[in-house]
Amino acid sequence: MTDAEILHYITTDDRAEAEALYAGARAVREKHYGTDVYFRGLIEFTSYCKNNCFYCGIRRDNAETRRYRLSREQILECCRTGNALGFRTFVLQGGEDPYYTDEKMIGIIRAIRAEFPEHAITLSIGERSRESYEAFYEAGADRYLLRHETADEEHYRAMHPAEMKLSNRKECLYTLREIGFQVGAGFMVGTPFQTPECLLEDLRFLEDLDPHMVGIGPFIPASHTPFAGYPAGGEERTLRMVALTRLLLPRTLLPATTALGTLAGDGREKALLAGANVVMPNLSPVDVRKLYSLYDNKICTGDEAAECLRCMSLRIKATGFCPSMVRGDSRVAFPQIQTVPV
Ligand code: SAH
Repeated sequence: MTDAEILHYITTDDRAEAEALYAGARAVREKHYGTDVYFRGLIEFTSYCKNNCFYCGIRRDNAETRRYRLSREQILECCRTGNALGFRTFVLQGGEDPYYTDEKMIGIIRAIRAEFPEHAITLSIGERSRESYEAFYEAGADRYLLRHETADEEHYRAMHPAEMKLSNRKECLYTLREIGFQVGAGFMVGTPFQTPECLLEDLRFLEDLDPHMVGIGPFIPASHTPFAGYPAGGEERTLRMVALTRLLLPRTLLPATTALGTLAGDGREKALLAGANVVMPNLSPVDVRKLYSLYDNKICTGDEAAECLRCMSLRIKATGFCPSMVRGDSRVAFPQIQTVPV
């Protein structure tokens, strides 16, 4: 697609054109993944963060948010609960918390790997050195989520304090990919100062990186942050970006994000209909769920893991797709495996 075509699909108000885009994205997703929707069990294990991103509710300077950390044993307990429910991927996400040194992380990864040799272990703990990433991979982690947030330099600087660098974040992504991780990049839609041209740049960056997964969700304001007073990103524009990403990176995994479900009651269902094929229900202990408050009014913070699973399965089936509890590796990594549409 040319730049002009992409910009047109991002901005057009023509319903028929938008529907054709979603139908095209659905067809491409079906070709590579059938109608399966993969589950990932999300464990939000620390809400401490040394960074100060202007949009994020757990940024360092937010003194109004209560912080928590899970112990290795608590994390393992979440994995056990998830495993008993059928989850085959665990995602360990958190703020950039120096308490979890490489040594601590390696201990946690090894313990999960020892107990669950077949499961996928995904990390999402921000920017670290090549040496750290290599050590995590050695210890048994196989996937890493690190949204680039925006591929546009100027926009990145408008969303982050000066000490954070887009070049470093991009470098981390290429390094992770090189080490052998299945890598997830991604961005928010509708962050303050974002233009359609920024989103075009996101897509061009993704084409170059060729990640195994792309997380796309709307920006939602978080109280007590510099961006608290800005409007949330749009549902429709988020769906356009999901569909365009599916068309430009046909084999990538695309989650129907919790942020989109928070913005609109049927947001995740609409994402599935626009080419998404992954959901990430929460496996964190219920008593800390509300504290991992990246943005306000986050959904699914009160339900037990089993209830989240049941609810998501029903939503997926009702939308015409098939909940799947396999590991769900990316076709970017294993292009030879094709699922047969059911
Ligand atoms: N510390 C990790 C995990 C960050 S939290 C890292 O650096 O990768 C996961 C994602 O939540 C972020 O990458 C960001 O895209 C998203 N997020 C943060 N604040 C948000 C907000 N206010 N609205 C929507 N999404 C947000």
